[in-house]
Amino acid sequence: MRRALFLSVLLTALVRAQESSLFGSKAAAPQEPAAGAVIGSSPAAAAPDDEDETSVVVSPFRAISRPEPKETRAFSLAKLNRPLAYETTRELQRLHSAYVQQHVLETGGASHVRAPGPLTTLEYVVQQDLGDGRFLVKANWLASSDGLLPAGTDAYAVLMPEKPKAAGDTGQAFVTNVGQVAVRFTPTFAPLVGRRLTLRREAFIECQAIPGNAAGMQQFMDLIRSGAELSVVTAEKFPCKTCGGLGFTREAQKGKLEDRRNPCTVCESGKVTVRIETKFTP
Ligand SMILES: [Zn+2]
Repeated sequence: MRRALFLSVLLTALVRAQESSLFGSKAAAPQEPAAGAVIGSSPAAAAPDDEDETSVVVSPFRAISRPEPKETRAFSLAKLNRPLAYETTRELQRLHSAYVQQHVLETGGASHVRAPGPLTTLEYVVQQDLGDGRFLVKANWLASSDGLLPAGTDAYAVLMPEKPKAAGDTGQAFVTNVGQVAVRFTPTFAPLVGRRLTLRREAFIECQAIPGNAAGMQQFMDLIRSGAELSVVTAEKFPCKTCGGLGFTREAQKGKLEDRRNPCTVCESGKVTVRIETKFTP
């Protein structure tokens, strides 16, 4: 029921979800002793590197940053395949493919929520239970299709799996990346055993993928028709206005018949990329 809690909180605010689950309750506590507390106490008690300190502290380190969409448009299911409408079956399929890369199933599978970060699949070996449903794993994962998360190979990461794990367990999980966290802990595994240290690592939460098949598409359309406010962000390419889509501008040269071609400074090969949020309407 931690997962149920997580996904319902995710609906309202990601930050609250992170505080209540991934980072545990300890993240809220001050991590450095106050200046007043250091004075008069022994150096051992004041030092944050105290060897016999055993608590696990997981705190946000680097949040996911997604580029904001520049434009918004509506995709109306009622106009699907009408003459001259851009709402074609093909366009709907393209947008749905992007949609399933940005959303996950809400607990129970009936509704969709926007994933807080890139989605990928993780292959892992559990190294250590960090408590509060968080596990340090050694993992491999693929780069996310949106390009925001690079691939990882044999890398330590923090995972919140759906079900509790034990050290040595292996598995594969569909996950959303929630950025990087700083984990302060005492490893119980070789070769780091017993050394109090802080690792800054990618953090992942296991979730349920929305099926990209025909049944998934039907559920998606049913949700829109029943009033769910769903949208997808895509990077669209348009012909560049500055150079007329040529990728270069012409400049007359004295005494020469041929114009000089200067590479266009606002586009790539004649195209500009604009991030657009497409809102689906019944
Ligand atoms: Zn241009």
